[in-house]
Amino acid sequence: MYDIIIIGAGASGLMVASQLQNKKICLIDKNPKIGSKIKVSGGGKCNITNKYLSSEYFDGDKQFIESTFADFDNTSLLKFLKNNNLIPKIDEKIVKGTYFCNSSEDVINLFEKQTKHCDFLLNCEVLDVKYIDDCFRIKTNKQTLVSKKLIVASGGISYPILGATDIGYKIGESFGHKLVKSNPALVGFTVQKEQFWFKELSGLSLDVELDVGVKKLSGSMLFTHKGFSGPAVLSASLYWKKGQIAINFAPSKDSYLPKRFKQAIKDLDIDIYNYKFSPAGNFGYTKAEVTKGGICTDEIGLNFESKLQKDLYFVGEVLDITGELGGYNFQWAFSSGFVCGALLKQSYDTISQKFGRL
Ligand SMILES: Cc1cc2nc3c(=O)[nH]c(=O)nc-3n(C[C@H](O)[C@H](O)[C@H](O)COP(=O)(O)OP(=O)(O)OC[C@H]3O[C@@H](n4cnc5c(N)ncnc54)[C@H](O)[C@@H]3O)c2cc1C
Repeated sequence: MYDIIIIGAGASGLMVASQLQNKKICLIDKNPKIGSKIKVSGGGKCNITNKYLSSEYFDGDKQFIESTFADFDNTSLLKFLKNNNLIPKIDEKIVKGTYFCNSSEDVINLFEKQTKHCDFLLNCEVLDVKYIDDCFRIKTNKQTLVSKKLIVASGGISYPILGATDIGYKIGESFGHKLVKSNPALVGFTVQKEQFWFKELSGLSLDVELDVGVKKLSGSMLFTHKGFSGPAVLSASLYWKKGQIAINFAPSKDSYLPKRFKQAIKDLDIDIYNYKFSPAGNFGYTKAEVTKGGICTDEIGLNFESKLQKDLYFVGEVLDITGELGGYNFQWAFSSGFVCGALLKQSYDTISQKFGRL
């Protein structure tokens, strides 16, 4: 019997475990190694957080996000990393305020050290969870495990090649949680035939301003053979609701428009300052860096415990909170994981003071 079982050895699950050094914990992950997304993130350098942290860069319940960051924000994360000899550096080449590590491996090594007290069941897929006689029974493809508390840190459903499944949503639903419809986010767009001229410009990148109705974003846009992508476009996908997008191809007075672009639009009657159209769709979950939507936070306490089932917790991307491109998603995963773990530790400490035992 474990005190705590954590489903998912990604950013959020590892952070929870790191805060509970005296507990009997088991982390279960479908992947053969821990921190698979950390490994590939930021081109192997993990864009871990952003200097400009604010709920305005997130889709989800602003109050919930702000309350979490009040306890553990970008400064707290940088301090936590520094205490573990890891000092990320600002690199603003692509998105303003982004902090990158020397190597993603450094982050994984840090958490390997911080979770030495835990058991790991890797290459192991959780299939189902039941709550019987005050305990969680976690059925995997290998065995059934039992724990007093369960932390669901299983992420979203994008990038299935790195172990993603919908188990977190299934567990949530089975305990009565509402799900906010999920969608691929931080992903490029496909175009309709009126915009097939984009494909001719495949490989070209421009600094643009994008208006997705609820939000304006500026930054680099990349024309691709399937449609359009690039940093500003990825962030725009977070807010897009199947309507029109307006692109300003020359947002500043000194915007430089390359010859290739001018040639491509020569015979088209388009307004380069306000080019409105509806994308066909996006590149889907296989390419999306994150999943928008998930477990609705209305029924989650500020300690990340379910309001519907005691001892059940949800952290990280599985929740209906998603950030723009630029380190915001790891910050969310680490902040939610830290707050959940630290408050759990506090509650154990209070109990042990009352009953004089750990
Ligand atoms: C290619 C790529 C690059 C990215 N780069 C960045 C970046 O530079 N900066 C940034 O902020 N964000 C980045 N992100 C997003 C970021 O990785 C995620 O938001 C973050 O990892 C979410 O953390 P999490 O702990 O909630 O979930 P995850 O890291 O997804 O961890 C969940 C874990 O649960 C496991 N799991 C799922 N289902 C099961 C099951 N049924 N049984 C057992 N295990 C299961 C998975 O294998 C996975 O390891 C990137 C994402 C991708 C795909």
